[in-house]
Amino acid sequence: MNERCNLRCVYCMPEEGVDFLPSAELLTTDETERLISILAENGVRKIRFTGGEPLLHKEIARLVHHAASTADVNSVHLTTNGLLLERLAPQLFEAGLTGINISLDTLDHQKFVKITRREGLDKVLTGLRTVLDLSFPSVKLNVVFMRDFNHTEIGDFVELTREAPLTVRFIELMPFDAHQIWKTGKFLGAELIEEEIRLQYPEVEIDSGTATEQRLFRVPGYAGKVGIIPAFTRSLCGDCNRIRLTADGKIRNCLYSDDEFNLKALLRDSGSDRDIGREIRRAMWLKPEDGWAAQKLGDHHRESMTQIGG
Ligand code: SAM
Ligand code: SF4
Repeated sequence: MNERCNLRCVYCMPEEGVDFLPSAELLTTDETERLISILAENGVRKIRFTGGEPLLHKEIARLVHHAASTADVNSVHLTTNGLLLERLAPQLFEAGLTGINISLDTLDHQKFVKITRREGLDKVLTGLRTVLDLSFPSVKLNVVFMRDFNHTEIGDFVELTREAPLTVRFIELMPFDAHQIWKTGKFLGAELIEEEIRLQYPEVEIDSGTATEQRLFRVPGYAGKVGIIPAFTRSLCGDCNRIRLTADGKIRNCLYSDDEFNLKALLRDSGSDRDIGREIRRAMWLKPEDGWAAQKLGDHHRESMTQIGG
């Protein structure tokens, strides 16, 4: 919904020289609202706003409100780096947001600057507290897990779930940045992440999670949960029914696919709701069997997750 960002995470965006699309190419708020309505008419029940940084969108609360008031949409979530949450969380709660995922890879100030190339850890932590105080129905922390970077912090993250009804999810690094830091040995697979959790918390119990969470654990007596997302090893693709809408109005039916279904062209060429609905259903039907199949088909010209909607 928005390619821009106020951080420059090393695995996501280059430090400088990002080619953003001209604003005339981006969907307007009216166009986005119309697409949300048509998506819902064609079977979409869950909406997630992501980006780029969705909280930089000037009308994010209006979009959340529209999605939350759309018939048949039963959950409206948002994935954010958390920097602007302290200020915006109350409006988003009022607008009907049902879940927030905050991305935070370290609890150490210096490492935060190293990974995001900006200051801001305190702001993110204040944002997290604000969200927990407002009692959003679902609050999750996304931690991209990297060898020799934050793997020593696993226990610190699990401890956040002791008091707070929060799900901390460790995510495998994916090969989606232009500089391919992925190739520098930082990748740590889901199996190893699980081994490490079990080593430190032998008493963990298995819990049930959403379709993307390979494993969900709970330390007995803790308020929250801990999950693992095999974003690269892709063992869960069979259960995935997601589609993504880019900021410039195109549908991607798999994170690993380069195929696009151009809804903006239909919108701006007087397409009817029916025409647009047909294209949405085509994107759903043509969803690749899994992320490996999708990757084989594409030519991989993407520079960053911000262009796909992470
Ligand atoms: N700016 C928001 C944020 O950071 O939460 C939303 C967009 S961001 C692209 C969505 C998620 O994708 C974040 O949790 C981020 O850590 C994750 N992400 C970005 N690049 C990634 C990569 N190469 N591998 C794994 N996760 C990645
Ligand atoms: Fe921005 Fe999110 Fe990408 Fe970090 S992961 S650069 S916060 S879009």
